[in-house]
Amino acid sequence: MTADLGHGFVVPAPAVVSLPVVGRAARFPVRRIYCVGRNYLAHIREMKEAEDERDPPFFFQKPRDAIVPDGATVAYPADTDDYQFEIELMVAIGAPARNVPVAEADSVIFGYGVCLDMTRRDRQRECGAKRLPWERGKAFDASAPCGAVYPKGTGGNPAKGAITLAVNGVETQRGDLDQLIWNVPEIVSNLSASYQLEPGDIIMTGTPAGVGPVRPGDVIIGAVEGFGRLTLTIGAPEA
Ligand code: MN
Repeated sequence: MTADLGHGFVVPAPAVVSLPVVGRAARFPVRRIYCVGRNYLAHIREMKEAEDERDPPFFFQKPRDAIVPDGATVAYPADTDDYQFEIELMVAIGAPARNVPVAEADSVIFGYGVCLDMTRRDRQRECGAKRLPWERGKAFDASAPCGAVYPKGTGGNPAKGAITLAVNGVETQRGDLDQLIWNVPEIVSNLSASYQLEPGDIIMTGTPAGVGPVRPGDVIIGAVEGFGRLTLTIGAPEA
């Protein structure tokens, strides 16, 4: 095949991935997905794998095309027998940032929302035990359900508010944003010390205690006070 595809690319170009914005017709385009690990003490304790629970939080990434929208059904993924949910506050970055001080971090935030850090827990634990990268456990297809973005000032308080998750109507996770080990400005400041942040970056800020597995047919509803809710249905296993 010699013809181009009409836009100067030799194979089809990836689609722009974006999230709806509350109160706006325009959408939030996603560039990168950063995630914070170990950011609630109660979750560190339930995982029982930190060598020292005072070890600081850390970052990993998911691919942006792992995003699935609110209300979606996702297939139970391949490569796991322990597919788990983690409810998290999402931060949406609206301006470039590098080495931003904690006191100025708010100025680069566009808004907030609800997201799920879906996890193949068996693969994550194996990778950790073998000192291998976490990708198989964390960065797989459809592992990043995300809700709408609430522009800063239109939603709740990112420093204080309930963060909860229910499976089939039964609450399994409950925490409060005031339990974050690194709060939102500290996350943005720390992340910007290692990476050039750009508009379109989103950050999953860590999960409270109560994580657990789901099975085909389960319906997950996650919520963060003032930032809406996110529903995910687990479908049949991937063919
Ligand atoms: Mn997480």
